[in-house]
Amino acid sequence: MPTILSHAAVPLALGLGLGRQKIATPLLIAGIASAIVPDLDVLAFYFGVPHGSAFGHRGVSHSLAFAALVAALGGCLYRRLRTTPLTAFWFLFIATASHGVLDAFTNGGSGIAFLWPWTGERYHAPIRPIEVSPISVTRFFSARGVDVLWSELLWIWLPGLAMASLLIAARRRA
Ligand SMILES: [Zn+2]
Repeated sequence: MPTILSHAAVPLALGLGLGRQKIATPLLIAGIASAIVPDLDVLAFYFGVPHGSAFGHRGVSHSLAFAALVAALGGCLYRRLRTTPLTAFWFLFIATASHGVLDAFTNGGSGIAFLWPWTGERYHAPIRPIEVSPISVTRFFSARGVDVLWSELLWIWLPGLAMASLLIAARRRA
């Protein structure tokens, strides 16, 4: 996985780019939570779920079906998120699905079960430039941690900033 914080980059960039009118603060916060929530599956390690099982790390919770489920839930709560059901749905779908997509671009760990429940097959992206983040915190605070942050800055935060700037520019012209 990229670090938890970097998963927030996608909803943040989209929210910033589209503006508060379209993405109100509660929806933005829900988007950030949705982008992070798939990694709760690391708890599977503690429950003894076998590595590579559909319910293991990068399995069910990283699938597009799971993203659709989170999005549908958000769509039902649209009033609390101060938006329309459709906006809540697509924003939360992109935020949740982006988690697995970013993971697929990391240079370590198992593939992503994007198409669960149709197939348990695990997929990687054709190129994998993002340094995988160590799960252990002690290993994170080492030279490896600096490499990870640098690659996330380069491959996640900078493209995110570019996307936000383009969206802001498009909004100003409209
Ligand atoms: Zn993940």
